[in-house]
Amino acid sequence: MTDAAPQKAKTRPAPFVAEVVRTEQLSATMVRVVVGGPGLTAFEPAPHADSYVKIVFLPAGTPRPLRDDGRLDLDAVRSTLPPENQPRQRSYTVRGFADGELTLDFVVHGDEGVAGPWAEGAQVGDEVLLVGPGGAWSPDPTAAAHLFAGDASALPAIAVALERLAPDAVGHAVIEVHGPEDEIPLSAPHGVQVRWVHQGFGVPGLALVDTVAALPPLPEPVSAFVHGEAGSVRELRRHLRLERGITRDQLSVSGYWRLGADDEGWRATKRDWLSTIEQSEVAAGLV
Ligand SMILES: Cc1cc2nc3c(=O)[nH]c(=O)nc-3n(C[C@H](O)[C@H](O)[C@H](O)COP(=O)(O)OP(=O)(O)OC[C@H]3O[C@@H](n4cnc5c(N)ncnc54)[C@H](O)[C@@H]3O)c2cc1C
Repeated sequence: MTDAAPQKAKTRPAPFVAEVVRTEQLSATMVRVVVGGPGLTAFEPAPHADSYVKIVFLPAGTPRPLRDDGRLDLDAVRSTLPPENQPRQRSYTVRGFADGELTLDFVVHGDEGVAGPWAEGAQVGDEVLLVGPGGAWSPDPTAAAHLFAGDASALPAIAVALERLAPDAVGHAVIEVHGPEDEIPLSAPHGVQVRWVHQGFGVPGLALVDTVAALPPLPEPVSAFVHGEAGSVRELRRHLRLERGITRDQLSVSGYWRLGADDEGWRATKRDWLSTIEQSEVAAGLV
């Protein structure tokens, strides 16, 4: 037996210190926040349709220790704060990046949480700390059909992906929002049917799952993108894998948020949740 080499603590990337340059109310429950400024000059966009950044929220008055390169030292920030006051991070899709400005679209989902309420009240000049981008998925150009399913949180990523499809692409995009006042114009090829479904006073994701399950068979292979509330994403994954035979490599699927849990709570259980789903797929003979 050999001694394990001492583990070096992972250094957190320094955040970009950007600022709000404008905001726009896109729908009843979606606010666009465009961020920019000199602090974003070094930001390099990723090529992927699901590219996202993590926005870092610090408690008011947090000291700002700097690294040797003059950038904010998030590790040092963390070490100065008590456990209950640690920075909070939230993921948001890169809706666009041009001329040094990053466009992010936020679901405003009520008074709870950090990011939604922040976006609702965002003002020009407000500081925005962000890290990234991450992401790894784009629609497969060789797919015979495309399927997009998600709620409002996935709408920015679905919008980006639809814009990137070839003009002759075919398929369906099913998007669940609260009501007609939450729909926004989307640009999609003629052969891709965009269908809005409304949650109304129902359970989030129920209408989405039912609508996707009722779609006609699609030409194979299908490239599918399914994101949104974790419970409905799980149902959709089960349907697409078991009933439509979509293979894992053709499916981008994950819960962007979890009903009844904040992001910290959801991230703490996400790994076990995923592992349970994967085990059930193995038990069902899917690999
Ligand atoms: C890769 C990735 C990309 C994402 N892109 C986007 C994006 O572009 N736009 C976007 O709006 N979201 C996006 N999300 C989802 C977003 O990160 C979560 O919804 C996040 O939890 C919101 O943080 P919060 O501080 O507002 O609420 P939290 O503090 O996390 O949660 C507070 C409460 O609000 C509920 N809640 C959280 N999100 C929603 C919601 N969307 N609708 C209704 N209730 C909710 C929670 O269940 C909880 O009860 C993305 C997530 C990931 C992982």
